[in-house]
Amino acid sequence: MSGRLPLTGTLGADRAMKLSIVPMPKVDGRVLANLVSSISESTEFESVRVRPPSYGVSSIRPNRARGQFESEGFLILLSEMGKEEGEILLGVTELDLYHPGLNYVFGQAERGGNAVISIFRLRQEFYGLRADGGLLIERATKEAVHEIGHVLGLGHCPSSSCVMFFSNSILDTDRKGFLLCASCRRMARGTAGFPLKFQP
Ligand SMILES: [Zn+2]
Ligand SMILES: [Zn+2]
Repeated sequence: MSGRLPLTGTLGADRAMKLSIVPMPKVDGRVLANLVSSISESTEFESVRVRPPSYGVSSIRPNRARGQFESEGFLILLSEMGKEEGEILLGVTELDLYHPGLNYVFGQAERGGNAVISIFRLRQEFYGLRADGGLLIERATKEAVHEIGHVLGLGHCPSSSCVMFFSNSILDTDRKGFLLCASCRRMARGTAGFPLKFQP
């Protein structure tokens, strides 16, 4: 959900960037803590911290016919929280997200804004398999870095090992890595303070 446009401007420019992870319903505190460490290691943000939500939770309601939640609504709630310059908000939810026209989404991002990911379909249990906490954090980190890439202006990448590869299913997420490929690196070149890591 993001075109291949040159990287510009307000984000990733000259200042150190920070990531604030916002717990959204009904994410588990331990998952969140593990995600903070994993995203810290996989990125180059000046800081990665948890920021308590400050929006009206009552406004989170499912689409009754689908039993899912429209991802756009989560981005609106995050934008209502406001943020400092150089700060990106990443909402993390256990609720199943969708975007009109798609059966589900692992996450959504707004270029130059914020991002949200759902861990609902990142759990092995969703696929009838035994829970795997480590794999869950790996998958969530990849999806988080992917959506942050969109926030920073990157589009989808045809390289299946690049974190900006579009995950059509969980298999794509498992196949790709945590890092940006050489081609995505060229897109970000010259952007001082760019907080994502690249393949060597
Ligand atoms: Zn994407
Ligand atoms: Zn790439």
